[in-house]
Formats: sequence, C-alpha cells, structure tokens
Amino acid sequence: MHDKPRKSKELLVLQSLHPRMNLSLEEKQHFENLEKGYQGEITFYHQLKEYPFKHQLILYDLLLISNKTEFQVDSLLVRKNKIYLLEIKNFEGDFYIQQDKWYVASNGKEIRNPLLQLKRSEFLLQHLLQQWGYNVSIEPYIIFINPEFTLYQAPLHQPFIFRSQLNRFFKKLQASDLATTQKEKALTAKLVANHREHSSNERLPQYEYEQLEKGMVCSCCSGMLTYLNYKMTLCKKCGRQENLEAALMRNVREFHLLFPERKITLNAIYDWCKIISSKKTVRRILKNNLILIPRKKYSYYLFEK
Ligand SMILES: [Zn+2]
Repeated sequence: MHDKPRKSKELLVLQSLHPRMNLSLEEKQHFENLEKGYQGEITFYHQLKEYPFKHQLILYDLLLISNKTEFQVDSLLVRKNKIYLLEIKNFEGDFYIQQDKWYVASNGKEIRNPLLQLKRSEFLLQHLLQQWGYNVSIEPYIIFINPEFTLYQAPLHQPFIFRSQLNRFFKKLQASDLATTQKEKALTAKLVANHREHSSNERLPQYEYEQLEKGMVCSCCSGMLTYLNYKMTLCKKCGRQENLEAALMRNVREFHLLFPERKITLNAIYDWCKIISSKKTVRRILKNNLILIPRKKYSYYLFEK
C-alpha cells in the first residue's frame, strides 16, 4: 500500500472540490502546491523504477508520530542497517540561499528552508527507531526533482541531490544493494503499521452539499461531462469520451470522499451525478460495482472493504 506515492486526503478533496465550487486564492495556491508536490513524487517514483533493486525496501508517503509530534516522509529506502530518508521537492525556477535563508530569485520572497524540515524529520525518525529498539543509521537527502530548478549559492557538502545527479545517486545505491534481513523487513512492516491515515494539519475548505455544483467531472481536465449515450460520456472541454460506468463510479467515490457521513443511495447518486436521466441506468451501475444493502424504503450501497 505504500509501494508508490499516494495522493493525500487533502489533495483528493481539493481536487474534487475545485471544479464544483469557487476556492479562495489561498486554497487554490495550496491545491497547486500539493498537486505539484505529488507530481514530483511520481516523477521520482518512475525514475527510481528504472533501477531495479534486489533487496531494498521502498516506502512512500508515511505519516508518523514520534515524540508526540506528527511528521511526514516522502520516501524511505530501508536497507541493511541503514535508512535513506528522502524528501522530494518539486521547486521550479531560480532560488538562492543567503545566511541559511532561502529565497525565490525572481521576487526575493523567502520560502521555508527545506533543510530545517529534513532535519526535523530525521530527528523524529531517529527518536522513533530508538524507541522501537532499532539501531539503524539514517542518511537524509533532499531530492530536487525538477530539471528546471537552479539553486544559487548552494554550499558544498549539503544533503542535496539535484536532478542532474539523480542517476549517479541511483547507481551508487544499486552498487551497495546488500541483502536485507528479517530485521529490515520487520522494521518496514512496523513503519507501515504505524502510518496514520489522517493528518492533524489537514487544511480543508468549508463546504456544504447544497453549494457544490452537481454533475460528473472529467478525469483529464476537470471539465464537466455530458451524457452521450447509455454507454459513453463526453467532456466538452477536452473532447475526451469516457465509459459511462467508469465515470459514474469515479464520481460516486468523490461523493463518498466529500460526504462520508451520507449514505450512497440511488437518489443521492442520481442527484449528485445529474446528467443521467435514467434511474435504471444508475441503479444498474451501482449494483454492478457496490454491495447493495436492501432496506424497505431506502436501500443503500457500500464499497467493498
Ligand atoms: Zn475533459
């Protein structure tokens, strides 16, 4: 489950809300940052996949608690007696460092120093491992995944890996891919078992069912879909045609994500997805994909656990 990067709940919710309501400027900015961060992780994931490892155990997107403090790690490479703690940054453009502070070159705006975040994660992870009785050394790095990123006045001997150095880094890892033991496997399982699904730092916008635009959202461009025929939908924005069943189920999952307390009933989905005029069609698709809980008046559906 942690073998590839995952979208955070925050990102999923914002992605679903974005085409259905007006987000504030701040929310939009936050959404773009999360989206960009996720794209960076996906790029890293694909790059790393080019280098098959025999023994290395790889974990993505863990949210852990140590010392009563929550911290998130983008990627951990668990190896024999060593863990690589990797923070992936998808910064784009020119930046510079001045007296330990980081700035965007174009406007001089200060950004949060990613080194401090890395050190904090390293400290908290170390603490957690010690608490669990593991004596493992941690090697932390920030991976700057974007090829359009330049950092001026970057001091030497920092735990930075720039895009131009990534292949060399992977080759180095490949050359030292020692067989892992039961100890590393147990540690990996323990890390996964201690992962938290929900962050206490989630910043979700306020929203109500009534205020959201109903209809089905395109998976490619977030435009609204129109009904083409009993099998297909059409996005008028990007022109993509999508199978009606797949599109409907994606929008049912969105409904469930945004309103977990609401029951998935035929009427609820009929109203949410709006563009399908035949209730029979909606019922057929729900029955095909979900578990029906029959009730006299309002039967409802559940996702398979
Ligand atoms: Zn589209």
